[in-house]
Amino acid sequence: MGCGAVRPKRELRRIALVDGEPVLDREARLPGRGAYVCGKDCARRAVEKQGFSRAFKRRVQPGPMFVESLETDGEEARARDREGAGDVLEGRPREAPGRRP
Ligand SMILES: [Zn+2]
Repeated sequence: MGCGAVRPKRELRRIALVDGEPVLDREARLPGRGAYVCGKDCARRAVEKQGFSRAFKRRVQPGPMFVESLETDGEEARARDREGAGDVLEGRPREAPGRRP
């Protein structure tokens, strides 16, 4: 949102409004409109350009702490994504049944 880059959704952080405050939606489960940023710099740019207000169609002014919080949360999410991807690969059968000699 902030930089205008097109990225796969899994690389984006979803931001949702809770009581009028933008928060990182780690699990992408919060209801309502969402805004997507791809990182801390992206979020900062979005804050400067009132991107969150546009995305949520209301006045939203995240504080500096919000942008800072994205950094650590993003790292955690990326680590979790890596773990998740590993699980999927391990869970997939390596050979199709019936192909064994
Ligand atoms: Zn971006």
